[in-house]
Amino acid sequence: MDIIFDCPNCGQELAVDSSGAGTNIECPACGDTITIPAGPQNPPDSRELSVPNLTASPITSSAAAKVEKHLKVPVRSTPAEPLIAKAKPPLGARAVGDKQVRIRTIRRAACIESGHDNFDEVVSKFLLEIGETNLMSIHPVGYTYFDVATQKMLTDYGAMIVYRG
Ligand SMILES: [Zn+2]
Repeated sequence: MDIIFDCPNCGQELAVDSSGAGTNIECPACGDTITIPAGPQNPPDSRELSVPNLTASPITSSAAAKVEKHLKVPVRSTPAEPLIAKAKPPLGARAVGDKQVRIRTIRRAACIESGHDNFDEVVSKFLLEIGETNLMSIHPVGYTYFDVATQKMLTDYGAMIVYRG
């Protein structure tokens, strides 16, 4: 590993083996006696030697330390594990037997058979099926549909039943 520096007298760029750091040499360009600097190597294209080298060195090392810290944090922290652990139990619990909240929307038009409006009967029958304890709420719903007989868009109503099942 070479120490590259400029002659303080003439500015000639010099490369000396790092084993010669601290020793005096004679500049091959101007003949002046110069001391080979120790420490980190300077980039060959850098004009000034000691000042930028001393200031650049701590910045570089602290920056390297910061980068190292940032890289280590995601590796050591385990945010992925709780997410996986959270995702699994609800699925398993549901499969085992916990009832889910469901909805059933019954449209009045779907309950008309042969001109008879069986909406109330259909809703009553469904409520009987799910059981009163599983019934959470019933909401009126309005909707528009295309009536083939009259060739018109008609508005109608129905019921959205929220229940556990
Ligand atoms: Zn010189």
